[in-house]
Amino acid sequence: MSEPAKRPSLAVWKFASCDGCQLSLLDCEDELLAVAGAVDIAHFLEASREVKPGPYDLSLVEGSITTPHDAERIRFVRAQSRFLVTIGACATSGGVQALRNFADVDEYLSIVYAHPEYIQTLATSTPIADHVKVDFELRGCPIDKRQLLEVITAFLHGARPRLPAESVCMS
Ligand code: SF4
Repeated sequence: MSEPAKRPSLAVWKFASCDGCQLSLLDCEDELLAVAGAVDIAHFLEASREVKPGPYDLSLVEGSITTPHDAERIRFVRAQSRFLVTIGACATSGGVQALRNFADVDEYLSIVYAHPEYIQTLATSTPIADHVKVDFELRGCPIDKRQLLEVITAFLHGARPRLPAESVCMS
């Protein structure tokens, strides 16, 4: 008897963000069950503490890069991912936290924290594509859950997602 076909693996990653785009995926309910049946959800900490090691067929990345650790972590995610798709305004443009790019971060730190010397942060909030190759960007704040399902389904079937031009950026 032949082995059952291996399901493609999906990983979801969070960087600097509010979790709202990941919640769009969780909000898909019935559709998410269908997705879960079609893919191996290998890394999705918002939904499960179980983590399977990579590599992964598709990584969805929420959030922007704001710390030296995250700048390193996104390179690890890229290395582990066949396709990498960024979801939401934080990941595709730096998000509202990119307002810091026009201010003095050291001044912010001294105002907000009693011991700013313990805080490791970058002076800027930057999109994921500034750090690693991105295969597809899905825009929105939050993203549209139907569009997210289209992106997941298309990439897992080796096709390009069919979405309105203003909601995506293809590389
Ligand atoms: Fe939250 Fe908007 Fe960022 Fe998505 S794009 S994580 S909804 S702030």
